[in-house]
Amino acid sequence: MLRQYELVERVLAYDPDADEAMLNRAYVYTVQKHGTQKRASGDPYFSHPVEVAGLMTELKLDQDTIITALLHDTVEDTLATVDEIERLFGPDVARLVDGVTKLSKIETMSESERAAENLRKFLLAMSEDLRVLLVKLADRMHNMRTLHYIKSEEKRRRIARETMDIYAPLAERVGMYEYMREMQLLAFEQLEPEAYATITGRLAAIRSEEGAQVDSIALEIKQALAEAGLRVEVSGREKHPYSIWRKMAERHVSFEQITDIMAFRVLTETEDDCYKALGILHRAWQMIPGRFKDYISTPKMNGYRSLHTALIYSNAMRVEVQIKTREMHERNEFGLAAHWAYKQGGKPDGQVGWLRDLIEILEASNDPEELLENTKMAIYQDRIFAFTPKGALFQLPKGATPIDFAFAVHTNLGAQAVGAKINGRHVPLRTPLGNGDVVEIIKSRNSEPQLSWLGFVVTGKARAAIRRFVRQKERAEVAAIGRKLYEEIVERLPTKVGKKALGDALKRLKLGSEEDFMFAIGSAKLDDRQVMEALVPGSAANIPEESWPSQKRAIAVRGLTPGMAFKLAACCHPVPGDRIVGLRRPGKGVEVHAIDCMKLADGVDADWIDLSWDARTDGAVGRIRAELYNRPGTLAEMAGIFAKNHANVVNLEMTQRENPFHTYEVDLEVRDLAHLTRIVSALRASEAVAQAERI
Ligand code: MN
Repeated sequence: MLRQYELVERVLAYDPDADEAMLNRAYVYTVQKHGTQKRASGDPYFSHPVEVAGLMTELKLDQDTIITALLHDTVEDTLATVDEIERLFGPDVARLVDGVTKLSKIETMSESERAAENLRKFLLAMSEDLRVLLVKLADRMHNMRTLHYIKSEEKRRRIARETMDIYAPLAERVGMYEYMREMQLLAFEQLEPEAYATITGRLAAIRSEEGAQVDSIALEIKQALAEAGLRVEVSGREKHPYSIWRKMAERHVSFEQITDIMAFRVLTETEDDCYKALGILHRAWQMIPGRFKDYISTPKMNGYRSLHTALIYSNAMRVEVQIKTREMHERNEFGLAAHWAYKQGGKPDGQVGWLRDLIEILEASNDPEELLENTKMAIYQDRIFAFTPKGALFQLPKGATPIDFAFAVHTNLGAQAVGAKINGRHVPLRTPLGNGDVVEIIKSRNSEPQLSWLGFVVTGKARAAIRRFVRQKERAEVAAIGRKLYEEIVERLPTKVGKKALGDALKRLKLGSEEDFMFAIGSAKLDDRQVMEALVPGSAANIPEESWPSQKRAIAVRGLTPGMAFKLAACCHPVPGDRIVGLRRPGKGVEVHAIDCMKLADGVDADWIDLSWDARTDGAVGRIRAELYNRPGTLAEMAGIFAKNHANVVNLEMTQRENPFHTYEVDLEVRDLAHLTRIVSALRASEAVAQAERI
């Protein structure tokens, strides 16, 4: 384990301005907080964060990142809090530690809830600051290096699978190939122990049979280049067992058929030398067409730069060669992390720094596919990821609320939501969720989606589900009114109406169900006469005209020239009994308003005609507003009052749905003002109605 002074010296070696006292304080803090906790290896727990900090110094990362590495497990595993860390080490470190802690949630999730791609997106989105991701990768790197201490094979395999599926691809995404390769190799050893043993055995056998072939080829390459006056460093290595294994699996070939198990790295002093070296090697050995790539003139998106080629060394042997400058090499191995540390002279300025670099890299690239791949990181910035209390992960657009979350989990959960807790705290249902929030939905069987939710939900799924519920509910309410009206109509028929007559009526009207029938009556799509004819054909003709309660009433107004067109104004809905006045504008018919209508103020430019109701008028449409208690049966009760008073519902609309009231606006055909007033009084007397008025 790194000692305290060693760690501090390493940081000071590349950043002489680092705050030594602060680094010391962080070291002591993690030792104290983790106390007597132990690792599976038997080492004290604090050896782990210290080693992770050591890995961060290899990347020459800034002081805040080193401190974050030291503290990265304290919030999760000890009594330390983010607040305390902020007090002792400042807001930046607190934010970074909080970020790493949130990323660690991934490890508490069950196997079935893992969709590897989803999790990679999650991790990227959560890593608002690249340094959070770097600490997490180093954390995983150290855990993989010490994986063999864990006794349970199942646990080892689980961690290895996670590393292979999630962390190695993440390391690749940010260009940390060194981390990617080592993680893959360590995970491969756990996941495919037999294949690992076979391949490493074969490689060892080749080495003992053919001697130090890697070294002799490296020397040959170096000599060829030296003769041309190039000063280079050449190193060779066998490809690691995992990449050989993957090649075997991808190409369906045996180990013997794999001809390129060696790779060589040529490090030059200048970029020009890279291209010179390439030309010399292509002349000395035959190149394999299609394997040459120039990542110097066109770097990969994560900043990787190098020339790649493959040569036929002898009949049975092909070798890969990478040519780059020393500086490129150092940057390549640690990807964005190195790129970033160099840029800032070892003093990165946080998110701005690495985002700016990312943008630079994006601009430098010509490859649309790579562009897409890397801009994904930016795309995730408008997604948030939230968990159920059991740890299931859901991806939602930014601004999503607990209602969106509930509908994403299950339509029924959304429908029955009455409250929510975010991270254990009760919050209003319209609260926007944050990344990494744990969301618990409180539901009630008797609850239903509220119209007002449409004002704040952001997902299409929630929106569509709420609309569907509200429509269904309204339809049921209109059908309930229809049923009241239907019962009244049936009483006026000469014969009793049974199931058969009802069934026949549905057929005649081409309606699918009784509910549809009641809805058609309630929404005035069918009038009384049509209903009667459908139930008992010929019955409507026998009914004396005056017993029609409502259909097509005659409206007549005195004071107009005979034949002059007029209409009752929709703003005030005058009914017989109201004092009325007519407004006449050139080329238009006469609008009939109640004398106290507010709209009359707009009529100063029109001719005013003094009007009164004709005795022949037997009705008009009046509009009322009623506030009903929100409980079952209240709407039917209101419909009953309309029916008892022989008022036909022309239109009914729910205008507000706020607990504990529902407000409706109803257009009613009434005989006159007295009729309308009586209905309003009857509504006010009802226990179902909180308030009723004419509007
Ligand atoms: Mn850790």
